[in-house]
Amino acid sequence: MERKKFDVVVIGGGPGGYPAAIRAAQLGKSVALIEANELGGTCLNRGCIPSKALIACAERLKQIREAAEFGITVKDISFDYAFMVQRKDQIVTRIRKSLEGLISANGIKVIKGYGKLLSHKEVEVSGNDSCLIEADKIIIATGSEPRDIPAFPFDHEKILDSTDLLNLKTLPKKLAIIGGGVIGCEFASLFNTLGVEVTIIEMLPSILPMECESVSSYLTKSFKKRGIAIYTHATADRIDRQANGVKVVGNNLSPVDADIALVAVGRSMNIRNIGLEKAGIHIHKNNLIEVNEYMETNVPGIYAIGDLSSIWWLAHVATHQGLVAADNACGHKTRMNYTAVPSVIFTDPEIGTVGLSIKRAKEQGYDISIGQFPFQALGKSQAMNQTEGFAQIIVDKKRGQVLGAQVIGHEASALIAELALAINNELTIECITETIHAHPTIAESWLEAALLAEGLPVHFPPKGK
Ligand SMILES: Cc1cc2nc3c(=O)[nH]c(=O)nc-3n(C[C@H](O)[C@H](O)[C@H](O)COP(=O)(O)OP(=O)(O)OC[C@H]3O[C@@H](n4cnc5c(N)ncnc54)[C@H](O)[C@@H]3O)c2cc1C
Repeated sequence: MERKKFDVVVIGGGPGGYPAAIRAAQLGKSVALIEANELGGTCLNRGCIPSKALIACAERLKQIREAAEFGITVKDISFDYAFMVQRKDQIVTRIRKSLEGLISANGIKVIKGYGKLLSHKEVEVSGNDSCLIEADKIIIATGSEPRDIPAFPFDHEKILDSTDLLNLKTLPKKLAIIGGGVIGCEFASLFNTLGVEVTIIEMLPSILPMECESVSSYLTKSFKKRGIAIYTHATADRIDRQANGVKVVGNNLSPVDADIALVAVGRSMNIRNIGLEKAGIHIHKNNLIEVNEYMETNVPGIYAIGDLSSIWWLAHVATHQGLVAADNACGHKTRMNYTAVPSVIFTDPEIGTVGLSIKRAKEQGYDISIGQFPFQALGKSQAMNQTEGFAQIIVDKKRGQVLGAQVIGHEASALIAELALAINNELTIECITETIHAHPTIAESWLEAALLAEGLPVHFPPKGK
């Protein structure tokens, strides 16, 4: 087998791995990037981008349906789902091509195949470009895959994972979703807008159980108003295959008939069969690779990033970890800090959160004030007919520091960036109230929420009035 030598080898070309490879190459190292499938990983090929390409179609459809509220008449609205899917695939292909160009422009050697550690310095690649690689530093970025439930494993026909659902060519009439987390809720929102009858089955007391209670209860109400059926405290015990679909049977649940079921109950990490034991790498109890704040494993010179190394299963966290790991692999000292990780959920209405929730802030002993400003009271939201939702800021009363922020409503995905900057830089509430926010914009909701937290609201009645 051919032997090759590089300064840095990265296993996995997703949003964690390829930025790590780029950073290491920019810092003057010879870099190999091993990828078993397609560059871009889950995010580009079967996650963030394809799902948002379809969600964009649903958003456009909704706007057209609501055109009459703006005095615009649109007759005979219809859509072609197969076209939407084709458009999604074209977007993914286009981005992948440009990513391949970017990686090659950085002088990175892409090796197609499955990488497996043989020792703390060697990786064996089997596949198209089989070879043995020797490297000074190794970055593991093999990501994760959909996790199924042993009682009803994926059959990829009627019991689907998120990848199968993204690849459907025709819309089902009825969709049962097991799991009301981020992926389950994004798909529920998308397919409901496209006219599919959706039922969510969630084991915990609410959908989006990890979000601030005010946000998950707002989304629950909004979903129910749109006709999405939600069972909470409910478990799916079995899925019976029927001639024309499936029947989900469980606890605290009337049997749910559907054409197909999506199982969205979490991810399993790609840490088996990659030779971790040969390099002596420790796995944490929760099936993640153990790393320190430099993203280094217990084996010096081997780093682990992305889904398999933290509880944040987000592409931008993987990317940030990748840059930190590459910096450290190249002799710098950079730490990973999770204080201000923005998280966005692309439901309708959208959700953006960063920092502490109310519950977490209280658990950590803070005496807090909360400012929650409804979009209903915002001129721009009224003008755009986007009055659903609110912006909420959580502040440490003692020092005035902004601890957390949640926003649900139109453009929440863009709005959360302002508060991520504030929290990451430990800004106080005055930094927000003293910043002039342009009018009329939805971003004014942060100013108003901050004024409310200070007890000095301008566009909101005083407390008790
Ligand atoms: C439907 C869906 C929607 C999502 N939406 C969002 C979103 O809107 N925003 C967001 O931030 N996150 C989103 N995510 C999560 C996001 O996709 C992941 O957090 C992110 O892709 C993790 O990046 P990663 O680099 O750790 O792993 P991955 O993206 O999984 O990449 C790992 C790569 O390693 C390769 N690989 C695995 N094993 C080997 C091996 N032994 N040798 C060589 N190559 C190997 C795989 O083929 C893959 O290309 C979504 C996920 C899903 C499923």
